[in-house]
Amino acid sequence: MRPAGVGAYLPAGIAMKAPATKADLLGLLPDELVLFLRGLGQPRYRAGQLFSWLHRGAAFDEMTDLPKLLRSRLAELASAGTLRAEAQETAPDGAAKLALRATDEHLVETVLLPHGRRTTVCVSSQIGCAYQCRFCATGRQGLVRSLTAGEIVEQVVRVQQACHPTRVTNVVFMGMGEPLANYHAVVKAVRLLNHSGGLHIGARHIAVSTCGLPDGIRRLASEGLQVALAISLHAATDDVRSQLVPANRKHPIAEVVSAARAYAERTGRKIAFQYVVVPGLNDTPDQARRLAALTHGLPCIVNLIPCNPLSNSEPTDPRSAGRFAHLLRARGIAVAIRRSRGAEVLGACGQLRSRLIGQKDAGRAEARPAKAR
Ligand code: SAH
Repeated sequence: MRPAGVGAYLPAGIAMKAPATKADLLGLLPDELVLFLRGLGQPRYRAGQLFSWLHRGAAFDEMTDLPKLLRSRLAELASAGTLRAEAQETAPDGAAKLALRATDEHLVETVLLPHGRRTTVCVSSQIGCAYQCRFCATGRQGLVRSLTAGEIVEQVVRVQQACHPTRVTNVVFMGMGEPLANYHAVVKAVRLLNHSGGLHIGARHIAVSTCGLPDGIRRLASEGLQVALAISLHAATDDVRSQLVPANRKHPIAEVVSAARAYAERTGRKIAFQYVVVPGLNDTPDQARRLAALTHGLPCIVNLIPCNPLSNSEPTDPRSAGRFAHLLRARGIAVAIRRSRGAEVLGACGQLRSRLIGQKDAGRAEARPAKAR
């Protein structure tokens, strides 16, 4: 059936021409804006003005130092961001989750996490995810599509607007999706967020989290960026890790850790290993011993995350992270236990979107502690 609208009045057999998609200027670096504006007969300096407005979340008609005619021309030809706020939930601890609706009607999740002097935004890099990690709500949704650089940056811009005058200081790619499977858009988003003419978030305050794609890790090491790398390790042996992270069957632990070593060497940055504790499975003395051997000589920290269960079948024990931390510290490993936060906002990966699109697991996840950051 043809949708209602102009197309509904066209004779059968004549396809309705899709409206030309507008360029999303939020996804363009200043040099690219220079070219875009040159096409409109505009001088170079306008690019800096436009970039600054875009990254403050302004609409074209609010860009008061641009000529009126240019503003209306821009509104005809381009967009200043594309996401619409759909839902926001705020937890008593200040954590907030935003659901943003993309132009193709899909939902994008973004989380704001205030902690002391830092304010972190957790962004999504994809809608859904192809990697199906066992405890992850996003994996259950499958991969819908990757986000554009503009859509990634816009999540931070929207949160920055919402939490003004507090400044966003950190960005972590720990929302929906696998950032290294959307490599170009993610790296471009990092450059956009980092740019001094916009939000100017230090690369060292941006963390990319991956389920462990060695080629992507090595490539990221060569970008000349200082971004932090988090690797969702979750186990120290291939048999256990493959049960939690199916990607491990293709990219076993040895390859992942070797890429992590290359990253640490090249960038001089410590690696953060994310480790969701699944009692009885990955918190045994044997796993602790193997983890010590794996990370020997590698500058790293292991972040233990109490599992935020998606179903009643997943075992939980609030004390297990503490016990495992003890085992790791005894072997000289630097460990942090990540506080569970934002239970009320369904802080774990994909859970708000799951609920909004009515998937079965979300309701059960609601009452549980959320993912730690
Ligand atoms: N795909 C990337 C980034 C998204 S997930 C990655 O795998 O790293 C971000 C982090 O949240 C990962 O460490 C992931 O393992 C963790 N996570 C996902 N679901 C969780 C849950 N239910 N409880 C606790 N942590 C979870």
